[in-house]
Amino acid sequence: MKAKITYKPNGQKKKNLFSNLLKSDVLKDICILTTNQEEYEVIIDNSNKGVNIGRLVFVEYKGTKHYVTLSEDKAEGRNSTLQSAPTVLNMFIADKSRKKTLNFYFVEHTGNLFTNYLQFGYKLLMTVGYKFLNISRVKNANVAKFADRTPFSSLDELINWRNKTKKRNASNNSSYITKSADSVQIYAKTYGASKYESTLFAISSFILTDRPVELYTIIEGNLKHLPKSSLASIAQYKKTYPHLKFEIHNTTLKFDRIKAGEKPNSIKLRDACYTYNLLDRIGPKKCALCGCEIPEIIQGAHIWPVAEIKKASLTDEEKFEHATSGHNGLWLCQNHHKLFDTNILLIDDQGQVKLTNHILDSNKQFIISVTKQDKIQELVLSPEFLQYVVNRNKVLDITHVQSIL
Ligand SMILES: [Zn+2]
Repeated sequence: MKAKITYKPNGQKKKNLFSNLLKSDVLKDICILTTNQEEYEVIIDNSNKGVNIGRLVFVEYKGTKHYVTLSEDKAEGRNSTLQSAPTVLNMFIADKSRKKTLNFYFVEHTGNLFTNYLQFGYKLLMTVGYKFLNISRVKNANVAKFADRTPFSSLDELINWRNKTKKRNASNNSSYITKSADSVQIYAKTYGASKYESTLFAISSFILTDRPVELYTIIEGNLKHLPKSSLASIAQYKKTYPHLKFEIHNTTLKFDRIKAGEKPNSIKLRDACYTYNLLDRIGPKKCALCGCEIPEIIQGAHIWPVAEIKKASLTDEEKFEHATSGHNGLWLCQNHHKLFDTNILLIDDQGQVKLTNHILDSNKQFIISVTKQDKIQELVLSPEFLQYVVNRNKVLDITHVQSIL
């Protein structure tokens, strides 16, 4: 019995891209790696103009369907490789067959397909079930750098890798994943290639955590939602993991208003918007005063408090802007957040951290022992941030204070 190999010949931009890539030695290799034998016949699929959007080679043998997505032949842009694989993942999930496998195959290529970002992407693909057929014998000087070729073992590991691949000090305005004590939050772009990355984040979260997952899809331009195929995949996973609590909020994260008598859901969206803007402006969760990075106990701390913003004579729109601005806050651990909210710790208009004199010396000593910064980091100290400090301190007594060190 021969394996049946089916593929569409044309690339999205290049005619006959796959007919040219898939020479007999490549097809034979794919055949052996998926079916353990080398006999095959080829079927060229010319439906839909033969455009192969998933870079897919489909191998059928003895009732098993093997989905194989191909790497790029030329490394172009960080996202193009990660567009095809989620597309094939969606097809794979939609296929109700019981005997099926999901695979990634590196074709001969030019350029670096092992950048830090792509290494992160491959680990994501492994986490959602991709088997990498031939990575160990890829001819690429950079492949050795990708030493850790295993799926993510925890959501913390995933978040940590993700943070490493992002530049600090720069607003990337991209998708984020983080968590709190109650849930995992994914802020998913619906625009461009990020929408596929967002699908991978969502499905990886199902696999790696039993905590509720909240997916905030950020609406941009005319793109209102994640692609239908991605939503279908997510729905299928919800069926697979029925104990998981999963919510999708479609939001602009910008134009929701503080309404009179706020409903819990609008407060939730406002909080989500604030968290997103802080992640975007100052990076991953890390307490600005002690360096703690345990996401469950790190919170966004307002400089100009929401209660004060509500009292100000501003339009609803302006209030919302101030309440959710990434400049109006910093990350603090729960202890430092509480100490700041109760004005035991203060920040002066130069960004220096101060301690109130109105507490016991023994408690001062304790606070000093757990506080490592006497000045807020430069990254956080924008002019807007310092203006929020001025607003906050207007109603506070900042004369009876001492330095933290
Ligand atoms: Zn802290």
